[in-house]
Amino acid sequence: MNPLFADMPTTIFEAMSGAARDLGAVNLGQGFPDFGWPEDVIARAADALVTGSNQYPPMRGLPELREAVAAHYRLHQDLVIDPAQVIVTSGATEALASSLLALIEPGDEVVLIQPLYDAYLPLVLRAGGVPRLVRLTPPDWRITEAVLAEAFTERTKLVVFNNPHNPTARVFGADELALVAAAALRSEALVLADEVWEHLFFDRPSFPSIAGLPGMAERVIKLGSAGKIFSMTGWKVGWIVAPRALAEPIAKAHQFVTFTTAPNLQAGAAYGLGKPLGYFEDMRAGFAGPRDAMRQKLDAAGYVTLDSEGTYFLCVDLAASGIAMGDAEFCRRAVAEAGVAAIPLSAFYAENPVTNVIRLCYAKKAETIEAGIAALARAREMFAG
Ligand code: PMP
Repeated sequence: MNPLFADMPTTIFEAMSGAARDLGAVNLGQGFPDFGWPEDVIARAADALVTGSNQYPPMRGLPELREAVAAHYRLHQDLVIDPAQVIVTSGATEALASSLLALIEPGDEVVLIQPLYDAYLPLVLRAGGVPRLVRLTPPDWRITEAVLAEAFTERTKLVVFNNPHNPTARVFGADELALVAAAALRSEALVLADEVWEHLFFDRPSFPSIAGLPGMAERVIKLGSAGKIFSMTGWKVGWIVAPRALAEPIAKAHQFVTFTTAPNLQAGAAYGLGKPLGYFEDMRAGFAGPRDAMRQKLDAAGYVTLDSEGTYFLCVDLAASGIAMGDAEFCRRAVAEAGVAAIPLSAFYAENPVTNVIRLCYAKKAETIEAGIAALARAREMFAG
């Protein structure tokens, strides 16, 4: 077996969700909503399942979805995209895998920003890339010129840039985007922009895609996910928007990773992307309520929380909350002894982890949040020094 996978532990998300299931604990760990999804999007997919084709759709995706992706980004992010640049994938995970397989040659340096989404490092390594790690730290998790300067070299082929950022819940500012873009331009590197959380941003009028910055159109490969946009994480319908010159090689990798994605789900996603602006504004408002409620309850229970500018996560600083225990031990004991699952941020670092922060998911019903915070309050009573 390849040791990269053979020696890898089960992901922390699966481990904590498994513990929550086995122990009957409230699951505020893994990022999935436990409330509704758009019935009309499902109805469109169901209709396509019954009345449409169930054979292989075109390798790069249904034309209606590729057009819908281009129109959607024109409306929401002011990006000018030709549907020919769009490749439909089986979730953003496949979009990451196909892009990295196609673009990285053995020995290429790849800049990754820690804390990092868990799929990045194994995929980069398996593609033969040499990771160069940038380390962000709480409470502000800011990207600075100094941290980028340590990682970018003239051998940098690509930087994976996730914004809005999982797990810190940051939406990086215009100044930070400009720094990443400038570093990429200096190294003549590509930017793999993982923007799956692009519709979950708060307290700002719009989401700034790095693809919109000057000089970025020809070097940004932008990834999206219908599963994230429509709160249906099981759908695994995603896409890649690539510069014209890169769409061809990426499509070649995609054809041997999955080749295609269920056509009926693609039809549902195409329909959903065409919903009016107000739909997406209401969706954000639907997440801002639980975010504020969770933060207030955590504050009341004596926890120190960090800002949640986007995604549906909220981070808690254990040390500042009077808990001296490391994040992994806290999560292990909280699920077993207090009945609530959370995710330790240290799991998102490949080296030199931050060990005093946990991540909670607020895409949950009011009663789930209520029960989870009550359990966290018990945990604080037990573990605070
Ligand atoms: N990138 C990031 C940053 C994510 O948070 C996720 C899902 N948690 C993905 C990629 C994977 O998306 P999908 O489920 O569409 O494969």
